[in-house]
Amino acid sequence: MNKSKEIIGYEKIENFNPENLKKLQYHYKEILSLIGEDPNREGLLETPYRVAKSIQFLTQGYDHNPEEILLSAKFKEDYRQMVIVKDIEIFSMCEHHMIPFIGKAHVAYIPNGYITGLSKIARVVEAFSRRLQVQERLTTQIKDAIQNTLNPLGVAVVIEARHLCMAMRGVQKQHSVTTTSDFTGAFERAETRAEFISLISTKLS
Ligand SMILES: [Zn+2]
Repeated sequence: MNKSKEIIGYEKIENFNPENLKKLQYHYKEILSLIGEDPNREGLLETPYRVAKSIQFLTQGYDHNPEEILLSAKFKEDYRQMVIVKDIEIFSMCEHHMIPFIGKAHVAYIPNGYITGLSKIARVVEAFSRRLQVQERLTTQIKDAIQNTLNPLGVAVVIEARHLCMAMRGVQKQHSVTTTSDFTGAFERAETRAEFISLISTKLS
């Protein structure tokens, strides 16, 4: 980071653990050799460094505590209707192949005295998805974090994702989408769940 540069308005600052960055860089250089590349050719000189930064970015969720995120914006509020945040983008990596899975999460809860900031729901999805994951566990972890911190009348989480490990390798199915869902409390009731499903299926025009 250039410290002499003055920030006038806003600047996004990225922080990387320098020690891990160095080690990752070393290992990615080894990997380049092991796959038959020449890590010293011009186009690849900076690649281990870039990939090391990139993997730290893609797994930053380990440094974030989702329950803390929710508790940091917990407000007393009497609203007792369904709150839905839908189409939250997910960029995660499957823990079996370390290949991305990409999709959307739809999250709903029915407050029981407390609400949280809407952006916090998206940040919780982010904190859990920026790790090595399986879609099933990701779904349940998001649900549990909300249930445990806000103690709402119910939580619903639906995730739809495309797994590149299925598209690029293995069975090579390009267009299959995996859907997972998990519910608590009021969402165990068929009518409430149906309302949620219908609300996430309608598009704003
Ligand atoms: Zn996989």
